[in-house]
Amino acid sequence: MCDKTNKVVPLKRRKCPICGKPAQERYCPFCSKRCADVDLGRWFGETYRAASEDEPDADDGTSDEQ
Ligand SMILES: [Zn+2]
Repeated sequence: MCDKTNKVVPLKRRKCPICGKPAQERYCPFCSKRCADVDLGRWFGETYRAASEDEPDADDGTSDEQ
């Protein structure tokens, strides 16, 4: 997930997308395992929610707003 070949942005300058602390190489791009888990859980949660919200509306078939 973390592109170590990309040296344009040093790891020290990367910030944890969860809490904004400097990222640790071990948990890149996060600062800790905890933040990595938070991001993972958030990702799964949004995916699940988006999928369940999309189904009822898709049955309507009306998309005149777009
Ligand atoms: Zn963090």
